[in-house]
Amino acid sequence: MSTIRYPQDRDLRSLVRFCADKGMIWLDEHRMILMHAAAMSALRKELIDSLGIDQARRILTRMGYASGARDAELARKVRPGQRIEDAFVVGPQLHMLEGSVYVTPVALDMDVEGGTFYGEFLWDNSYEAEAHVGEYGHTEHPVCWMQIGYASGFTSAFMGRFILFREVECAATGQNQCRIVGKPVEEWPDAAEEASYYEADSILAHMLELRGQVDALRASLEHGQQPPNLIGSSSGFRHAYSLIDKAAATHVTVLLLGETGVGKERFARALHDMSRRAAAPFVAVNCAALPHELIESELFGVEKGAFTGAHASRAGKFERADGGTLFLDEVGELPLPAQAKLLRVLQEGEIERLGDERVRKINVRLVAATNVDLQAAVKAGHFRSDLFYRLNVYPVRIPPLRERIADIQPLVEAMVQRFSALHDKRVAGITDKALRALKSYAWPGNIRELENIIERGIILTPQNDWIEIEHLFTEPQDFGAVQHTINDAGSLADAECIREALCRQIMTSGLGLDDLEEALIQHAVRESNGNLSGAARLLRITRPQLNYRLKKKEAAD
Ligand SMILES: [Zn+2]
Repeated sequence: MSTIRYPQDRDLRSLVRFCADKGMIWLDEHRMILMHAAAMSALRKELIDSLGIDQARRILTRMGYASGARDAELARKVRPGQRIEDAFVVGPQLHMLEGSVYVTPVALDMDVEGGTFYGEFLWDNSYEAEAHVGEYGHTEHPVCWMQIGYASGFTSAFMGRFILFREVECAATGQNQCRIVGKPVEEWPDAAEEASYYEADSILAHMLELRGQVDALRASLEHGQQPPNLIGSSSGFRHAYSLIDKAAATHVTVLLLGETGVGKERFARALHDMSRRAAAPFVAVNCAALPHELIESELFGVEKGAFTGAHASRAGKFERADGGTLFLDEVGELPLPAQAKLLRVLQEGEIERLGDERVRKINVRLVAATNVDLQAAVKAGHFRSDLFYRLNVYPVRIPPLRERIADIQPLVEAMVQRFSALHDKRVAGITDKALRALKSYAWPGNIRELENIIERGIILTPQNDWIEIEHLFTEPQDFGAVQHTINDAGSLADAECIREALCRQIMTSGLGLDDLEEALIQHAVRESNGNLSGAARLLRITRPQLNYRLKKKEAAD
């Protein structure tokens, strides 16, 4: 086994971006926080003292595991096509960059396809060992739980199988360093105890759990039963929901208002499900989708021979919804004659089929919905004012998605579950950055548009991978709409962030402007192996400008 050497970590450092003006730090697409080791250490002590060593260890191990597994996603992305060992050491290199510990590889022997792994590393400056010794003094057993969780999480996600790392020596026991060894869990003869610290997150358990969820969801989809679709906790959502909730106990006619795509039918269905009519039918009709000449027969039914083509008697939607709820979407699109009939049904509680003398009593709760201004339609003569007042007894406005930003994350999570089951896809989740883009997009098409975008994202995301911005916003015009968001967290704003930070560092470093110029020139000359034209290019100045500066320097010396 040859000595393992780390590749330069410039690629990893460039993933870290400080954006103090947004109150954010990013590691590629994952949001990070910079916190005091002392605060982590205090939290660690709280956990140990209040929950006991075992529980504290379990929590910290799993925290580390989650963090390592996330970093593993970066490994292949950042070093594609490189030696597998070089991609793998992204783990130790990020662990160092993140400030946990200094990692020296001792042995690394791995074969991803074959599933074999043996890794041995030395740890210096373990933050966790320091924290533990600081609070409790030297101990008998290894204590770098979060870090060992990180190593196991990174390696397991990288290898696609559970690799258990164990601390065979720990600085907290009085050794100079910690030493860790990782192997597939089956190869540890006595792994049961340690493995139990990962239990809720062990890959096997996790996969079984996901499998179960997928099966349950698919079964529910096959039976045509949507899982409860009303999700939200934003104040706008809660207000609308509480109005629906109160209406459910009564028989009042409800008018749902709101932009297209806000989920009016879902609210109507929820109202039905919460009411005493839940066991009876819920019938939905989109008035805009029916040709005008068919609307009346669709709604009120038709008797055989009522008009050419009426070969058989047929019940209308009102009769089919008897005892239950009829949802009339885009009610503003009803032609005037149908409006007159609808008004009569609402007033009398009875209908007549087309071509029939008989009057039928019906018991239906009407829920109407519109995305147009009905009052304006009344003024323009397109909508009967008496029908408008009849419908407008209990108006409920469903807020647009851009007013429900707090609901986006839970909505996205539910959609990710639903569409992964539908498309037989497992995804790791959605990156923080992609979620942030979703939260700042304006959503002209509301929840329906969000659904479309998430479904597309699920299809485009590789198996077991994270959903990233480019999986969601693939159209240039969509992308333009979120561009400002990406720039906030991405390259443009970053350039400013970096420049700001750099200036601040220089100011505090004690370097003067002349020293800085000299240092930059020397660096550029070194980087280009003494080639002055190359150095000038690196410094973004012309060759004569560089000559002038060098001469000026010589004269000063
Ligand atoms: Zn240790």
